[in-house]
Amino acid sequence: MSDPRRSLPAVSQLLADAERAGLKDLASRAELVEAVRATLADARHRDGVAPDVGWIEAITARVQSAGRPSLTRVVNATGVVLHTNLGRAPLAAQARRAVDDALAYSTLEYRLAEGERGSRQDHLGPLLCELTGADAALVVNNAAAALMLALNTTAEGGEAIVSRGELVEIGGAFRIPEILAKSGAVLVEVGTTNRSRVRDYALAISPRTRVLLKVHRSNFHMSGFVAEATVPELVTLGAERGIPVIHDAGSGLLLPLDAYGLTGEPLVRDSTAAGATVVFSGDKLLGGPQAGIVVGPRATVGRMAQNPLARALRPDKATVAALEATLRLYRDPGRALTAIPVLAMLTAEPGDLRRRARRLARRIPGARTVPGHSAVGGGSFPDCDLPTTLVALEVESCDTFLRALREHDPPVVARARDARVMLDVRTIGDDEFGIVVEAVRRAGWPGVATP
Ligand SMILES: *Cc1c(COP(=O)(O)O)cnc(C)c1O
Repeated sequence: MSDPRRSLPAVSQLLADAERAGLKDLASRAELVEAVRATLADARHRDGVAPDVGWIEAITARVQSAGRPSLTRVVNATGVVLHTNLGRAPLAAQARRAVDDALAYSTLEYRLAEGERGSRQDHLGPLLCELTGADAALVVNNAAAALMLALNTTAEGGEAIVSRGELVEIGGAFRIPEILAKSGAVLVEVGTTNRSRVRDYALAISPRTRVLLKVHRSNFHMSGFVAEATVPELVTLGAERGIPVIHDAGSGLLLPLDAYGLTGEPLVRDSTAAGATVVFSGDKLLGGPQAGIVVGPRATVGRMAQNPLARALRPDKATVAALEATLRLYRDPGRALTAIPVLAMLTAEPGDLRRRARRLARRIPGARTVPGHSAVGGGSFPDCDLPTTLVALEVESCDTFLRALREHDPPVVARARDARVMLDVRTIGDDEFGIVVEAVRRAGWPGVATP
């Protein structure tokens, strides 16, 4: 038997064919050679079988995908609103425009009135204080950095008291005991996994105690025989002993969402009102850019701003611009709920989602709508499954179909359930329906009208 790999075409042959087919206009010669080599290598891996779609089509696809940036916009059809892998919160239009503007020269650290040097924090501090009721605010790169800075500032060389029920892992490498160790503080555990009381903290206080830390259990819920000390109780205890309280609230909820069935996340304002120093994310429920926000008493936040670590963790101008624009939207809560995509998606009416799902399904002949659930994601509201309506596609192989959707430009990321591909309109914008329909058509779904 002769080895079929021997009969593969030569690089020079395919290159000439590709150039004759017009690929010269899509890519440089070096890029073409690379695409030809990679396509041949693929065929060699398949024991010398030529690509199903033909050599030129396969080389064209390679050239196109190589030309695409690695970080690219996608359509999120998963229904997971804060999808960490897809960049968490999509920004409001106002925030995107603000970023675009700020990427020219800007007033990042410049006071126009005086013509003098200013601070990048000046764009955010007053707004954050207004919206949370705090005396002072500081913004850094993300909430993990903010917590590290808060602990390093208050407790380096001393002790931090934390409940055993709150020594949590938030995802990836973020574990409270490890962050504490890196901050230079010694962890003092109190209480038990399921029950901690304020008395446990009081008994653990020593001359070395520098801070009481409370951590929101973002991504899981404990129920049954449980008890925990509240932020106001801890602040009262701390005030008696001259010890600050840091509350890692996680998700950054600035508006109550109980009316929409979303309960269980701490409202930032409640913790600042109690007198705690509160740490939270910019790109979770707040719906802004990746950022770590600290609000609280001037004494604690001011010391954090003076810490040399703050300089190493400072936010860039795109973050400052996007966060300022997002926060401004919160001045009118009604406007925030419609203009901030995360809040709009979380508070979407079930009836509206049903109508939108039907509208999408009508453009995909044979698709059905079925009831289902969306998730908040990002370790927020872990117990809340939001009722939604899904567009269900019965396909031969979900994996193959989902891959084809991801290969579309722009890619569409969806999920499979009950051996069907599911599209959740909660996270698909009305202006993205056309992209989804075209991706479904190109993935091989029959009967979809060509655009
Ligand atoms: C998400 C989260 C963090 C980390 O926030 P990042 O902005 O992703 O760094 C820290 N603490 C809690 C409780 C969280 O939920």
